[in-house]
Amino acid sequence: MAPLDDLYREIILDHYRTPRNRGELATPPAHRVEGFNPLCGDEVTLYLELRDGRLADIKMTGRGCSISQASASLMGAAVKGKTLEEVNAALERFRQLMTVTETRLDEGAEPEPLDVRSLGELAALAGVVKFPVRIKCAMLAWATLAQGLSEASSH
Ligand code: ZN
Repeated sequence: MAPLDDLYREIILDHYRTPRNRGELATPPAHRVEGFNPLCGDEVTLYLELRDGRLADIKMTGRGCSISQASASLMGAAVKGKTLEEVNAALERFRQLMTVTETRLDEGAEPEPLDVRSLGELAALAGVVKFPVRIKCAMLAWATLAQGLSEASSH
């Protein structure tokens, strides 16, 4: 096992055992959105507070496998307080991390080096793509965030 994999496993376990931004926010002003991954039974509920073009606050509850819950915690830490533009950019980067790599593996191509620095701790989830069934677990919080943002902005 490469040292980088060990580091990534540590980050995932840390976020699973000590999830960040756990809890609820009053609705309104916060928007509540639920996500469910039937393949694994993972659940995530997000509370999103949008203010002045920013995701001013985010809280979450949920239960499920370590990948789904660690991914939610990592996501919250990555997007809290960011402008909606930055949040959408992070969403897009994470989606690429999960889907582009999957496509590359299907094609049998050598994975290109990812710009892991732009992902920070989120890069810890890059190893998930080796286990395609886990991608839905890792994507759950992000897909729920995308849904919540589009609902909140249409209100
Ligand atoms: Zn799962």
